[in-house]
Amino acid sequence: MIPDGYSYSQIKENLRIICENVSESYDKYRNDDTKIDIMAVTKTVPAEVVNWVFDFGLDLLGENRVQEYQSKKDDYRKLSGFGTPPRIHFIGHLQTNKVKYIINDMDMIQSVDSLRLGQEIDRLARANDKVMDILCEVNIGGEDSKNGVSPGSLPELLEQLSELENIRIRGLMTIPPPSDSDIYLGRMGELFAGYKELYSMDTLSMGMTHDYAAAVRCGSTLIRIGTGLFGARDYSR
Ligand SMILES: *Cc1c(COP(=O)(O)O)cnc(C)c1O
Repeated sequence: MIPDGYSYSQIKENLRIICENVSESYDKYRNDDTKIDIMAVTKTVPAEVVNWVFDFGLDLLGENRVQEYQSKKDDYRKLSGFGTPPRIHFIGHLQTNKVKYIINDMDMIQSVDSLRLGQEIDRLARANDKVMDILCEVNIGGEDSKNGVSPGSLPELLEQLSELENIRIRGLMTIPPPSDSDIYLGRMGELFAGYKELYSMDTLSMGMTHDYAAAVRCGSTLIRIGTGLFGARDYSR
């Protein structure tokens, strides 16, 4: 049974267009030999529909909500032994007391914005005998409504996180203010360039449905797409 409102061929076509736009922006503005990763952001999307994107060669999922992930993960096809499993990144706000539910399933946690959260991830990663890849989430627009560390506090947080042995800082993540997003994408690109060498970073996660082409121009290495892939949904649900 096909869930209401979703079309296999439409999502396939959406992905084709996204790939085309990414290539175009990359070819025009970038010349740096980095691969741009495309993530399917799964919030509110039924697991059956998420499974379709594996058919189209997409293998990176972004999860926002611990509870929603737990209720869907058993139905993600490739997690149950068919083919190469997808990579799964946590991208939503993460409460310290929920880290334990996802520590073993995630390949990366992109939303680390405090030392306390970093320490808990480090502690549980050690207990589970792994090293967790993380990104620091930066509140580049300084918006009250958004999570993330301010650009001014980022140096100290990076320094503190880099001391923890069971996390590995792979880079930075941001959700810029929707208005003036160009300015903030540019600033974020510069910020990333400034820390990249020092911490051996390789991932700048920025760009969503409305701004991914601009994000690629500004140095993004990973774009996170929900609406542009699956169609408009009610995220407040
Ligand atoms: C929902 C979400 C996205 C995707 O946003 P769209 O505009 O639907 O593409 C990307 N990143 C994060 C952190 C999100 O919560």
